[in-house]
Amino acid sequence: MAQVFAYLNHKNGVLEDAAMELINAAKAISSEPATAIVCGSGIDAVATAAAAIFPKVIKVDNAALDYPNAEVVRKALVNVIPAGSVVLFAHNTFSMDCAPGLSVKLNASFVADIVGIDGVDGSTLKVVRQEFGGVVSTHVGVDMSAGAVVAVRPGTFAPDESKAAGGAVTAADAGDLSAKRKFIEIVAPEAGDVDITKADILVSIGRGIEDEENIQLAMDLKEAIGNAAEVSCSRPIVDAKWLEASRQVGTSGCTVKPKVYMACGISGSFQHLGGIKGGLLIAINKNPNAPIFQVANVGIVANIVEFLPALTEKIEEMK
Ligand SMILES: Cc1cc2nc3c(=O)[nH]c(=O)nc-3n(C[C@H](O)[C@H](O)[C@H](O)COP(=O)(O)OP(=O)(O)OC[C@H]3O[C@@H](n4cnc5c(N)ncnc54)[C@H](O)[C@@H]3O)c2cc1C
Repeated sequence: MAQVFAYLNHKNGVLEDAAMELINAAKAISSEPATAIVCGSGIDAVATAAAAIFPKVIKVDNAALDYPNAEVVRKALVNVIPAGSVVLFAHNTFSMDCAPGLSVKLNASFVADIVGIDGVDGSTLKVVRQEFGGVVSTHVGVDMSAGAVVAVRPGTFAPDESKAAGGAVTAADAGDLSAKRKFIEIVAPEAGDVDITKADILVSIGRGIEDEENIQLAMDLKEAIGNAAEVSCSRPIVDAKWLEASRQVGTSGCTVKPKVYMACGISGSFQHLGGIKGGLLIAINKNPNAPIFQVANVGIVANIVEFLPALTEKIEEMK
């Protein structure tokens, strides 16, 4: 059986939550203990956190890895991972940059944005992907005979939050990390008038809101709920300039962890879901096959243009 490695993202000294999901993805592939890889500079705390989740951790600590430059990380991984291995990533903008090239360097198969693992049959890894915006599920056989690089959509596997692995950390030498691509600076998004990251309840609207004037329906619901609530949105709403960028949730917007996240007319792209880090996810969508229903805790099939005012009215009645 191929050895399974999981590349773990971290930011500001904190492991991303997907680490707790990747351990369960690894268990769906092999009964052998998986190895986590953390790359960075001055990452002892991150490696220790990884060892609470994974039985084995490889720490690649090098000044050249201070910023997660995909080209440099890829070089480090090629130097550390043995040929024929299975390498897991969380599917995100970093993995989109790093993982395909890694599969080329390792001469391994590559599959991105998987939403399920059906098991292993000999040297074939059976995974599930979604096509046409989630309308069709495809079952894909990935040839692992020369290894495989697999990016797993966040939310596919339940997180293992036990943090009881008691793993061992080994330092690895990354070798030559010279690269053509240079990190220059991080440009933080401008702070907006609203801080959606502080709200307990987010009424989040997507393209399903259909019209700019319908934004008011979400604002009315937020008013009815009270101070705990705020209105957030998916990227098409910001692109249309219907709401300001500070309200966007997702990989290129804000990361939020409210108690309740109401996704209204949002399909469930990984770029959007990547910004939701917990809480009760309630999805309201008129399409019963919308991908968001696969990750939602509560699913409601409804037209939001009718549902939002009806819910507002009900809350006002109950006050
Ligand atoms: C590099 C990159 C970064 C990105 N970053 C982000 C990001 O940070 N955040 C983000 O959100 N997106 C991001 N995106 C865009 C992302 O890929 C999706 O296009 C986007 O999330 C889709 O938004 P949506 O779900 O609102 O729209 P759609 O995918 O068009 O979904 C609309 C949904 O509304 C439903 N619907 C339609 N009408 C109604 C109705 N009347 N009532 C109920 N349901 C209805 C439909 O069934 C559908 O499921 C990024 C893309 C790229 C390439």
